Amino acid sequence: MHQLTIAEIIRGLRDRQFSSVEITSHLLERIQQLDGHYNSFITVTGEQALAQAAAADARLAAGDAPALCGVPIAHKDIFCTNGVRTSCGSKMLDNFVPPYDATVVDNFQQAGAVSLGKTNMDEFAMGSSNESSFYGAVKNPWDLARIPGGSSGGSAAAVAAQLVPGTTATDTGGSIRQPAAMTGTTGLKPTYGRVSRWGMIAFASSLDQGGPIARTAEDAALMLSVMASSDSKDSTCLDRPQQDYTASLNDSIAGLKIGVPREYFGEGLDGEVGARVQEALKQYEALGAELVEISLPHSKLAVPAYYVIAPAEASANLSRFDGVRYGYRCENPADLRDLYMRSRGEGFGEEVKRRILVGTYALSAGYYDAYYNKAQQIRRLIKQDFVDAFQKVDVIMGPTAPNPAFKLGEKNADPVAMYLEDIYTIATNLAGLPGMSLPCGFAHGLPVGLQIIGNYLDETRMLNAAHQFQQATNWHQQTAPAAE
Ligand code: GLN
Repeated sequence: MHQLTIAEIIRGLRDRQFSSVEITSHLLERIQQLDGHYNSFITVTGEQALAQAAAADARLAAGDAPALCGVPIAHKDIFCTNGVRTSCGSKMLDNFVPPYDATVVDNFQQAGAVSLGKTNMDEFAMGSSNESSFYGAVKNPWDLARIPGGSSGGSAAAVAAQLVPGTTATDTGGSIRQPAAMTGTTGLKPTYGRVSRWGMIAFASSLDQGGPIARTAEDAALMLSVMASSDSKDSTCLDRPQQDYTASLNDSIAGLKIGVPREYFGEGLDGEVGARVQEALKQYEALGAELVEISLPHSKLAVPAYYVIAPAEASANLSRFDGVRYGYRCENPADLRDLYMRSRGEGFGEEVKRRILVGTYALSAGYYDAYYNKAQQIRRLIKQDFVDAFQKVDVIMGPTAPNPAFKLGEKNADPVAMYLEDIYTIATNLAGLPGMSLPCGFAHGLPVGLQIIGNYLDETRMLNAAHQFQQATNWHQQTAPAAE
């Protein structure tokens, strides 16, 4: 049962081949037996899941089943869940039990989905390897000595290990697409504003966007159809009604114009990864698409601009964790200043502190214009590159990440090497565009991701292109070896 996709589970439940309680119990058992190897969950909510599954079965029997009725999923531990601890991978929020659900969580509940628990992540979603979690690193199901990517490493590993068919995740600079690439799963970051950020713990508010990780583009479309909604509680959430993202999956892609950016195939790209991506592009040609070489001239400025803007926003967002209102508080503070300093000093991990320091510096009087304003100007140029490119092409394709999954610990001593993991994904966030990663083969025996970048609000076309590729290939059906 754990091999089924979400689309297959929906059919199986409606045809009474199995019940939601059956599949939910099966997956909960798998998590219990196997997740010791992966560490992909921070919290498993077994009892609650079984109660939700029983309620879903009753609705299915009554013929009153909403879209994902009875389908098991899990949420990244960055989404607030009413009554269930939401840690954001940090000691700071180890004791935080929100009194409300994030809009995304609520949307899945309205759709009848069953939540198995909360997945592991880099602390406050800062990282590319899932090694900065207070709850320990996540292991890649393809090779337990390697990282699963980050920051949504738990969400990606849980899907790759077939512990759950789909998970929610977030992407500020690549955190949905990069772990999807490294685990052989399919991940989608929507257009900025497509998915509500209400109840999603903020890292860099102008970049953060929630989206799904699943095994197929069809499943990602099914999840997005539930996840994306307008929301009066988030003023940056677009006023667009929910829509069915599966509607045009089966359209032909003959004549689709695919932009291939020169800058995404240069120095730093692993040769085998590059070869797999080129083969995928050939496959698209065979499906009738047309390849168009394009240039995104400001690409190399994306990482430096991001590492000013994201830390700047993070330093402001994370100022709320002060040891006073909620979250970690130090023992026996001598006075208020000591309370602030030690609560933050003891509650945050090393990478989070580095970001707060960088961000505070970039925003400080005297440096604001030199760093923050300059980075915003670069952001505008990066966006313009894409606007120009989309005059000529329908979608853009290239590698998701420069290399396959690396070894645990390999890049810990060098933050800049870690930051470069997102060299092909970050520009999309700076521009607010939608992007996906889907499996397109193996390099050095490890999964490789093909990235598709879509035009604003054009998730449908991106999903159509991804689905057509998955109809013609079976990379997405390869499964990680069973953990021993
Ligand atoms: N790896 C990037 C960072 O550390 C992106 C993280 C993310 O998308 N949440 O900031």
